[in-house]
Amino acid sequence: MSGTRETSESKSNRAVGFDIGGQSVKAVLVDRSGRVLAETSRPTGVSSTVESLIASLVSARDELCAGEQADAVVCGVGVAGVMGAGGVLHGSPNLPEIQDIEIGRLCQGALSAFGVGVPVDNDANCAALGEGWNGAAAGETDFLMLTLGTGLGSGLVLGGGVYHGATGHGCEFGHAVVMHGGRTCGCGNRGCLEAYVSEVAARRVTADASEPLRDAVARRRRAGDGAAQALFAVAEGCDPEAGAREADALVTEMIWALGAGIASAVNIFDVEVIVLGGGIAGNILKRRSELEAAVAASLFARSIGALRIRAAEHGPLAGAIGAARLAMLSETATGSKSVT
Ligand SMILES: [Zn+2]
Repeated sequence: MSGTRETSESKSNRAVGFDIGGQSVKAVLVDRSGRVLAETSRPTGVSSTVESLIASLVSARDELCAGEQADAVVCGVGVAGVMGAGGVLHGSPNLPEIQDIEIGRLCQGALSAFGVGVPVDNDANCAALGEGWNGAAAGETDFLMLTLGTGLGSGLVLGGGVYHGATGHGCEFGHAVVMHGGRTCGCGNRGCLEAYVSEVAARRVTADASEPLRDAVARRRRAGDGAAQALFAVAEGCDPEAGAREADALVTEMIWALGAGIASAVNIFDVEVIVLGGGIAGNILKRRSELEAAVAASLFARSIGALRIRAAEHGPLAGAIGAARLAMLSETATGSKSVT
């Protein structure tokens, strides 16, 4: 797996990007500037098979390209999961039937009639590409994107290219250890950032909370909030009867863990731009001063004033837009190549 660089030239005027998640495939058709011309989605779930997933991609592509020669439009794919070299998807959360498959080759076979490569990358890497194209990190060559959702995804762009590391598994900030011997993470290790800053983490601390707070969170969740959003809302509500002080303490712990993770990234990679996306990002950025204090407390030889923490701009489409960017970047003068 190698990095894609912004210096690559694209021949195509349009590209389709897919973002394969545990609940849906999001798909967009974009032009050369990254403007979204059309979007659609298809459901996924625990019963999704490789065959049903590929059929969904083709169906979504055909819908987006109606009236065009669909298989002549370049495609790129982002997927929530562990990607290895050669476009192999080792595993994807919430898609248990899809493991150790050559998703790059399968996508190429299904989506391209001309042997044009279909690059595949991790969804958070694609989200970083999307935000770096025409979003919150447009024009930046070095930045870190964190997607704060069910889990904590991350994409690191250095020198204009996504950093993959030696084996393709680089930049998993969700599994940076911020608390030695701390909470057990879904990956099996302890003290990972994801175990403190994610929807799953919020569900866990809520389950262990006092009854008034559990009830208050449950009421908000019935109204449609996620557990993390509900915790932030209860904390803001300042109602001691609903466990506001307890919620505030839990939210504060989440923000300080994130601050430690961001500061570590800055200390190691010397990035000056951090992009926060995902469903929890808005709640955390409402408490920006607290987050900046948490980051500043762990910065080494740097000023918090030089760091720019920005909200992602592409919302839930960032991964799909970035996947389309991946497709354009991976083209060569003679056709196209996969970057995975
Ligand atoms: Zn972990």
